[in-house]
Amino acid sequence: MPYKDKQTKQIHDRAFNIEWYLKNKDRIIREKIEKHHTNRRKVIELLGGKCVRCGITDWRILQVNHINGNGSKERKIKGSSGIFREILNGKRTLIDLDLRCANCNILYEYDMRRGKCANCYQVDLIKDGQTLECPKCGFRITTFIKSLK
Ligand SMILES: [Zn+2]
Ligand SMILES: [Zn+2]
Repeated sequence: MPYKDKQTKQIHDRAFNIEWYLKNKDRIIREKIEKHHTNRRKVIELLGGKCVRCGITDWRILQVNHINGNGSKERKIKGSSGIFREILNGKRTLIDLDLRCANCNILYEYDMRRGKCANCYQVDLIKDGQTLECPKCGFRITTFIKSLK
């Protein structure tokens, strides 16, 4: 279709794009959600597929835990989807992440804030400079100590 000027063409294109989006909105959203689930499953597999504390393998309740804290900060910037994409594209390492079920993830936060090992029940972590280490299982954390209040 010929247009009189560039601006008219832009308006038509824009209207077409909006119409196309509205027609395909449900499918686009569904595909986005499916992609997110697929990526989440892949990241779970990369992190061993089970909770590091209790061993549960039910992917529906498994969560990616930031060992040194600041998980909510990174999620705020990139979103969970963004973090998963970076991992799968090889742009983010897994070194400061582990996999925990929802309950163990809550206990992680609880224990860490009290200087206890997140993997052993009621074992005090030993402070060594900027590192905390469990004398029982050898679990180590570093920067979390800075976010302790
Ligand atoms: Zn667990
Ligand atoms: Zn331990």
